[in-house]
Amino acid sequence: MRRLIRPVPLAVAACVAALSVGACAYNEALGRNQLLIVDDAALQQQADAAWAQTLRTQPVSRDAALNTRVRTVGGRVVEAAGLTGRGWEYAVFVSDKPNAFVLPSGKIGVTTSLLSLVRNDDQLAAVLGHEVGHVVAQHAAERYSSTALTSIGIQAAQGVAGDYGQAVGALGGFGAQLGVLLPFSRQHELEADRLGVDYMVRAGYRASESIALWRLMAAQRQTNTPEFASTHPSDSTRIAQLEAYIRERGYS
Ligand SMILES: [Zn+2]
Repeated sequence: MRRLIRPVPLAVAACVAALSVGACAYNEALGRNQLLIVDDAALQQQADAAWAQTLRTQPVSRDAALNTRVRTVGGRVVEAAGLTGRGWEYAVFVSDKPNAFVLPSGKIGVTTSLLSLVRNDDQLAAVLGHEVGHVVAQHAAERYSSTALTSIGIQAAQGVAGDYGQAVGALGGFGAQLGVLLPFSRQHELEADRLGVDYMVRAGYRASESIALWRLMAAQRQTNTPEFASTHPSDSTRIAQLEAYIRERGYS
């Protein structure tokens, strides 16, 4: 828990520093302030372009059963979270890497390999809930904002994005160049995990299956780490934190 509390003074300091560009906002879902010089709406165009390009350039699965499954589970999660009407779209990409990603415009991609890996819809709901959590948390806008305000600047961010694009393979590489598919921080991943569990539980899925999912992912881990199971946080930390959260909330 100490780890979760520690970033707060930094966030406050960043917010004070950002007053000149006028950009500190309280995010109720997260219970903390965010430094935002752009919001998700401002990233919409980039996100839409990245989504269109990904659909054009990556092999999309036309398997009706797979697509219906993702749409159905995603729809349940989004509805339970009270988040309909955000233009959610889902696509299934043919890939041998279990992976999922989300764009700030609410476009969610999952791979065929991920759908083979999950043992039940509860585990799929954990993945989709996590991705929805990133959107609600405005993580893409926050990451963009903090990067833009550091001395490293956008050019460096694009360098990172390039590396990340290579790391995740072609899928998502284009979005990374546009700055909408950069890897998330450890804090963002943990926040998305917690929001995701809240959403899946509200939709009637079993929270304990989120733990089972991350254990499966840990066992499956390869050099090319999927976005939603990135190297930060470590598997064991992530699972321990999520278990603690599930206990604290009284989920089963
Ligand atoms: Zn994530």
